[in-house]
Amino acid sequence: MSASCNSIKPVQSNGNLNYLGQEKTQWRDNTNYQFTEEEKNDVTMLFGGLSLLQDKLISSALQSIGENYIAMPNPDFESFQKGKAFGNRGQCNPTYFNVGNLVKYLQNLRDEKGLSTEEIIKKYIFVTSGGCGPCRFGMYITEYRKALSDAGFRGFRIMSFEHNKGIFQAADETSAINFSPKFFITLVKALIIGDIINILTYKIRPYEVQKGATDKAIETCREIISNTFMEKKNLVAAMWRCRQVLEKIELNRLQPKAKVMVMGEFWAAMTEGDGNYNLHRFLEEEGAECIPQPLINRLMLSIWETEFELGKRENLEKEGNKKVDFSTLKTKLLIKAGKAALKTHFTLYAKAIGLHDYEIPNIDKLATLAKEYYPLDASGGEGHLEVAHLIESVKDNLAHLVISVKPFGCMPSSAVSDGIQSLVTNRFPSANFLSIETSGEGAANFYSRVQMALFKAKQSAKEEFEALEMPQKIPDRVHNYLFQPKGEKAGTAAQLIHSIKTRNL
Ligand code: SF4
Repeated sequence: MSASCNSIKPVQSNGNLNYLGQEKTQWRDNTNYQFTEEEKNDVTMLFGGLSLLQDKLISSALQSIGENYIAMPNPDFESFQKGKAFGNRGQCNPTYFNVGNLVKYLQNLRDEKGLSTEEIIKKYIFVTSGGCGPCRFGMYITEYRKALSDAGFRGFRIMSFEHNKGIFQAADETSAINFSPKFFITLVKALIIGDIINILTYKIRPYEVQKGATDKAIETCREIISNTFMEKKNLVAAMWRCRQVLEKIELNRLQPKAKVMVMGEFWAAMTEGDGNYNLHRFLEEEGAECIPQPLINRLMLSIWETEFELGKRENLEKEGNKKVDFSTLKTKLLIKAGKAALKTHFTLYAKAIGLHDYEIPNIDKLATLAKEYYPLDASGGEGHLEVAHLIESVKDNLAHLVISVKPFGCMPSSAVSDGIQSLVTNRFPSANFLSIETSGEGAANFYSRVQMALFKAKQSAKEEFEALEMPQKIPDRVHNYLFQPKGEKAGTAAQLIHSIKTRNL
């Protein structure tokens, strides 16, 4: 035994002491935090956890309506370790990464920037989405408070809005936090624009001739959109300007690359960093093109879930010969209007930047595909969407590989969806499906499993391409992203060849 081990004095446990010999106390969450109008001008509101671009756009969008929001840096392994050190055991990865990221940020303010703990608690708050749910998501906010308290920031304010209520948040007269319809409309505009630019990035970057050209162009687009928000100018015109930036990127799209749909648990599938071992970048470096899951999918699912619940309530009222509640009808109308507004804005911005071929997911169609396998009443995580995406991808030949990525032990994704996916892959044997967990450790194992599944996908892409008869002439314009091919093949290069022939180019 080493000297240091000898120096540890075992504590005689009487049941009331922890392993350090301190008295054990029951953790109690204090939810009664104040945030007043008087202090608002001096307080910075921190947030984060979406894609890198979306976090930055949201920050500009909310600042443009006078809200002092700042996006946190991307969570990394150091964040994860801090999350583990101060968090409870058995939490989900998104909690460890994001809670640890906040602890790291506040420690940096204290230790590097020289702010006192009291100043930090007074001048910063953290805003996140919360809500009830069948999985550990319901505990996130308490987990933030517990970890911050243990890290020495007891009393730091975590403010939340309900993730599934959107503009219908209950008003809180006691708080200066602004969750007004204007706040959510501005937020959603930034989310949608971020989605559209992200979708295009993943279509363009794998085919760039000059490495780094896409990232540079996307950064210019980010500046254009951020400035447009800040100057309160026309966002459609700004998207048109982004199109002029993107169309200059030189591409070689006749490379038969494996198309990989990345889906799974919301955060694990969307984050672009250590949280999923940089999965999208890794796939691109290995010669694949990714189909990302845009945030609008999650928004549409939340709307669908609300409508589904309302429908069930209406049926009960009818069965009980009760009059249908007026508030139910009103909510239904508001949902309809919200859905229409969401689709209209998405289409307007997408057309302006030149994303012509993208359709917002039809959640009703996806629910129909999934319902034979996944009970639609079961919510939590992505609900039935993971199962639906896999079936849709096989039926419509959307990808050579579908990866479902999720944090270790994710209840809705690993425990429910993946159990069902074994039946789906049995019924659809042509599916190339990989379910993979991220634990924050074990990157080598993660990468090697992805590489193995990708090998088969690359072969499929190559065979599909080589089976096609090449046209005599390939017009230059097909290499530009504005030319968006269609066809029954999954790969972009094969679709291009098909489109050249069918459109007589
Ligand atoms: S969906 Fe999965 S990862 Fe997300 S909170 Fe629930 S259990 Fe955790």
